[in-house]
Amino acid sequence: MNNSTINTTRRQVIKTLGSLGAVSSLSACSDISSILNKNYERPHSRTPFYAPRIARNKIVRVIVGLRPYRPSGFVVKREEYDEKKIIHNYGHGGGGISLSWGSSALAVHQTAGLPINHAAVIGSGIMGLTTARLLQDAGWNVTIYTRDISRHSVSNVGAGQWAPTSVFEEGVASKAFEQQYKYASRISHHAYQNLSGANYGIRFLENYYLGNQKIKDSYYLRELPELFSSVADLQPHEHPFPVDFVKRTVTMIIEPATFLRRVRDDFLLTGGHFKIRNFTNLDDILSLQENTIFNCTGLGSKALFNDDELTPVKGQLVFIPPDPAIDYLTVGGGSDVTYMFPRAGEILLGGSSQKDDWSRNPEAEVTERIIEDNKNIFDNLRV
Ligand SMILES: Cc1cc2nc3c(=O)[nH]c(=O)nc-3n(C[C@H](O)[C@H](O)[C@H](O)COP(=O)(O)OP(=O)(O)OC[C@H]3O[C@@H](n4cnc5c(N)ncnc54)[C@H](O)[C@@H]3O)c2cc1C
Repeated sequence: MNNSTINTTRRQVIKTLGSLGAVSSLSACSDISSILNKNYERPHSRTPFYAPRIARNKIVRVIVGLRPYRPSGFVVKREEYDEKKIIHNYGHGGGGISLSWGSSALAVHQTAGLPINHAAVIGSGIMGLTTARLLQDAGWNVTIYTRDISRHSVSNVGAGQWAPTSVFEEGVASKAFEQQYKYASRISHHAYQNLSGANYGIRFLENYYLGNQKIKDSYYLRELPELFSSVADLQPHEHPFPVDFVKRTVTMIIEPATFLRRVRDDFLLTGGHFKIRNFTNLDDILSLQENTIFNCTGLGSKALFNDDELTPVKGQLVFIPPDPAIDYLTVGGGSDVTYMFPRAGEILLGGSSQKDDWSRNPEAEVTERIIEDNKNIFDNLRV
């Protein structure tokens, strides 16, 4: 049902009920409106909204990841140690999945003027894997050295919304960094679009930002509007969410487990090698046989390169079984960081954002709050 049909039907019903004396007040009219508006117009999905069924006894797992955050933004730069060159690509905060291909492209540009032969990549999170793949495409022979395989990296914890958020602090990051960020976002967005589909775990989804105050656009929505479609501030009768303000966009969601596995396979198929190794300091890194070395160690860069600015931002996620009927994601609407992302194999409920917290232990009270905030939204969905 489109809006004009809904309005005509509403008028007819109100008129009929009115002539029967059944409608005597404005509040009765608005009750009727909400009944008739259950078929909300949707830009992407062709089905009605369904509410995920959230309950404590449905929790299947709870995980924690530490986002590698720098207020002045992520680091892509080349350092020279005689014949060895170290190219950094780390510190992407809460947006490393979104930025991966673009930031890694910037890192690979830093090889300009170097002979193309063997390269070492340290780290097998999303930055290490995408850097390695782009190097292979440019003709390099690549070995990834890593303490943990990608399945055990922060990247495999990431929620996976394509939205380069919580990557830097406005006013602290330089204008030059902002240019670098925008470039990386655009390249990355383009690369993900080219891989869209179940094979790489990437699909487009309606995103709903919820709030009880007017929703302030994030930096990425203000500065990169062309990367989001169907952007709109919705009126109360245009959405089912029990909050005062709703902003909608359509963007990609990337399922990290599928994506990382697929990029790892591409890396191996293209002749890449893995070596498990834990580096303890710079000398350790400089002892590698390769002269061109990429540092993609995320939070590991703090100790390895004495980066005082790099800090963890702890995030906790709660999972319940999947529900194929849920074809949208939400961000906000709770008492703290709150989101709900549907995945093929599970529903992810977030979240938290605890700065300078190095603990990798899930916290029971955070789990409780995540469940409660999401239940409040979806138990009251107007469907
Ligand atoms: C809860 C949560 C939700 C998130 N949601 C999103 C989202 O929706 N969208 C988004 O874009 N981003 C999101 N992120 C952010 C994203 O996950 C990170 O920015 C990104 O994964 C960082 O990738 P990385 O490859 O730099 O680091 P990592 O994944 O941490 O990889 C680092 C690699 O380096 C290796 N390493 C580290 N130290 C050493 C050492 N000393 N020796 C050898 N190897 C070492 C590690 O073993 C690992 O393989 C989220 C993060 C969290 C925690």
